[in-house]
Amino acid sequence: MDRDRLSALLEAERTTHLGRNPGSQAQFAAAEHLFTGVPMTWMANWAGRFPLALAGARGNRVTDVDGHTYVDFALGDTGAMAGHSPVPVVDAVRRRIDTLGGITAMLPNEDAEWVAAELTRRFGLTQWSFALSATDANRWALRLARLATGRSKILVFSYCYHGSVDETFVVVGPDGTTRSRPGNVAPAVDPSTTTVAVEFNDLEGVARALRTGEVAAVLTEPALTNIGIVLPEPGFHDGLRALCDETGTLLMIDETHTLSAGPGGSTAAWGLTPDIVTMGKAIAGGIPIGAFGLRAELADRVLGLVRAEHADIEDVGGIGGTLAGNALSMAAARATLGEVLTAEAFAPMESLATRLTAEATATISRHGMPWTVTQLGARAEYRFRAPTPRNGTESNAADDPDLDEYLHLFMSNRDVLITPFHNMVLMCPTTTVDDVALHGRLFEDAVAALAG
Ligand code: PMP
Repeated sequence: MDRDRLSALLEAERTTHLGRNPGSQAQFAAAEHLFTGVPMTWMANWAGRFPLALAGARGNRVTDVDGHTYVDFALGDTGAMAGHSPVPVVDAVRRRIDTLGGITAMLPNEDAEWVAAELTRRFGLTQWSFALSATDANRWALRLARLATGRSKILVFSYCYHGSVDETFVVVGPDGTTRSRPGNVAPAVDPSTTTVAVEFNDLEGVARALRTGEVAAVLTEPALTNIGIVLPEPGFHDGLRALCDETGTLLMIDETHTLSAGPGGSTAAWGLTPDIVTMGKAIAGGIPIGAFGLRAELADRVLGLVRAEHADIEDVGGIGGTLAGNALSMAAARATLGEVLTAEAFAPMESLATRLTAEATATISRHGMPWTVTQLGARAEYRFRAPTPRNGTESNAADDPDLDEYLHLFMSNRDVLITPFHNMVLMCPTTTVDDVALHGRLFEDAVAALAG
């Protein structure tokens, strides 16, 4: 690839972005009281030096303050996988807020058992608890895993992402040892004291780490999705389960993103048998939620230890949040799972992702780019590397910030959004064939311009 050509094309896209978004730029510039100019620091990280300012969103369309309407393949990095403001969720939220009243009261209601039963039906684990984010679901479940095993460490895969959970910010260093991930913000303790990092797809590395007997739980996504998509190799999950069984380690699967694989995530789609499942984001249609599920035997074991060790899982023992399990989140989750992200909704989403993957792959091969596209159910991602990466370190090495910015701006300047930080595209129940075709044409044009 000609880097000079890329620089020139990127500069032209930046100029277009500036010219067509005066309202978004002005809003960003005027934000004097927002730390870094945005309500949450990573929002400043969209391509083009300032983010588009939201006016409204419905289905898979987002409108900004300059009046552009976008086909949205970012979908809030999966938080809006049900589409923006789906009607059944809006109705349920209205009913909860307005007709019934009661947003948060620290009291259970029947929606919670309905949602937990539905998650049981989909994922197979029988005991569920709710948080407000996938981060907190992971954090609390990790505590219970340590309690259940009496072990202090966890194992994660290099370049994983499970939310802002302190002990997951580790990578495998060049010498093979665990080290703090570059950029990790002032960790309370060096995470290599709490965590072992191993490369994804490296069962020998997992075996070495687990056979020390120090590891309470392996926490992993079924496929890595936050460093591009890195799929498991055949036999990887079977090997992982067998090593956990051999060493008495709990297997904890984070389905927050891989819910794109189907109604029961990759757990159901690939027949996985985790001890704990965690998730968040999409399952309440955009209303904050997180959830973790425990296998029945594990739940019993935890409760036995809670009694024996006087562990406080109800107040100030390190598990819980005042707003967790609130009635609004539960109403939204019931509507999302019951009426929007249903089993029937997934098949068309997946076939659209298959179509998008085929189109992008054809463009890449037409122009001889050394890139690949990986699909996971309703989600796909292009990566600047061929063959596809086997692990997080390989995938991280394929990062190309200029190329990312060029492709993102090329798309957004022509009314298509893809996920910031990486090149992820996600389908929702209202994504259409025409939307996918538009993405395909733009991807072809962007790559053709680059190829010259
Ligand atoms: N787990 C995974 C796999 C994720 O991708 C993310 C967020 N990208 C999280 C957990 C954390 O989600 P949240 O930021 O909503 O807590």
